[in-house]
Amino acid sequence: MKFSQTQAVHAGREDFAELGVHAPPLDLSTTYPIRDLDAGTASFDALVAGAAQADNPIYARLFNPTVARFERALAQLEGSSDAVAFASGMAATAACLLAARGRGSHVLAVRPLYGTNDHLLDSGLMGVPVRWIEAAAIADEVRSDTALVFIETPSNPTLDLVDIAAVVKTAGKVPVLVDSTFATPVLQQPLRQGARLVMHSATKFLGGHGDVIAGVIACDHEWGTALRQVRAVTGGLLHPLAAYLLHRSLPTLALRVERAQANAITLAQRLSTHAAVAKTFFPALGTVANAHLLGTQMTGPGTMISFDLEGGHAAAAQLMRKVKVATPAVSLGSVDTLIQHPAGLTHRVLDEATRERYAITPGLVRLSVGIEDVEDLWADLQQALPPR
Ligand SMILES: *Cc1c(COP(=O)(O)O)cnc(C)c1O
Repeated sequence: MKFSQTQAVHAGREDFAELGVHAPPLDLSTTYPIRDLDAGTASFDALVAGAAQADNPIYARLFNPTVARFERALAQLEGSSDAVAFASGMAATAACLLAARGRGSHVLAVRPLYGTNDHLLDSGLMGVPVRWIEAAAIADEVRSDTALVFIETPSNPTLDLVDIAAVVKTAGKVPVLVDSTFATPVLQQPLRQGARLVMHSATKFLGGHGDVIAGVIACDHEWGTALRQVRAVTGGLLHPLAAYLLHRSLPTLALRVERAQANAITLAQRLSTHAAVAKTFFPALGTVANAHLLGTQMTGPGTMISFDLEGGHAAAAQLMRKVKVATPAVSLGSVDTLIQHPAGLTHRVLDEATRERYAITPGLVRLSVGIEDVEDLWADLQQALPPR
């Protein structure tokens, strides 16, 4: 389905006319007056059981209206009935694993994943063991007691696409979680392909300005209830000010993604013919797995480019040292361009053999393209790359 720019501007703001405001109120209360004890008890019971709202918010670990506004808005953009926000993307992933724990004995997951997702799953820290499989093997590996299937598309850092509808079909009744951080709801809405849970590190494109750490899961009411129960007891809360900033960023999400994507298309084409570059990973170049899903599952190639330098680690280190417009830093999805080295930074937690297997070589750099003028970005890369 096409992303609705009207929804992006107005979602979570439906009650403004009634409130007589033009910007969302920011509620920083940690606690709320309870004059009617019995009504308060009923609200308390409801919120602890995972209700999306109650007459009295009681305590900010149970409910916050500013956070709930952002959640309602994001749910509309993903086409979900519910959404639950967390203090970070990893808090969101952890809550999903804790909620999944009671539903089965193991998680099936497809590599490559964001490094810390991989680390969290592989460590077994959440009490649910992982079995690493190829997407094509899900039908053979899925069991009635599989708790969750975990995939990421586009994947980090090599931007392989995973066919969500095909995974959902082979997973049968087992819920499929898609980390859709790289795509944003602008380019991909996995629930429409049948996924049960969509995860975003809202730190990235949803926030978009490099000043908020956050995570969110878009899902149905059953999972929403389970996730709020986990959040209420483990406390991985999104701060209301962060929720306010995220909500403020949603109206410009598509503008930012589309502009950065146009820049990325130009840069990927030029990088792919640059003599210093051995391989450019970008869905629109057809150099990633399942690139045929462009135009259907994913409406555009996105704003991330990875490229492997002929000169290996030394060339990558030089590139990070010499860029002036781009910032050499981890993270992504900000208005400004960021460049980083997966083998040395974000994917450090993977052992060397796993890194090699997934093309995370010493010469691989990952570019999160921003909304600057594309010729300035190209000039910056050219002066930082080894001479042709
Ligand atoms: C950043 C990121 C995460 C983790 O999110 P945090 O907000 O840093 O906790 C998970 N998945 C992907 C794809 C990411 O880029």
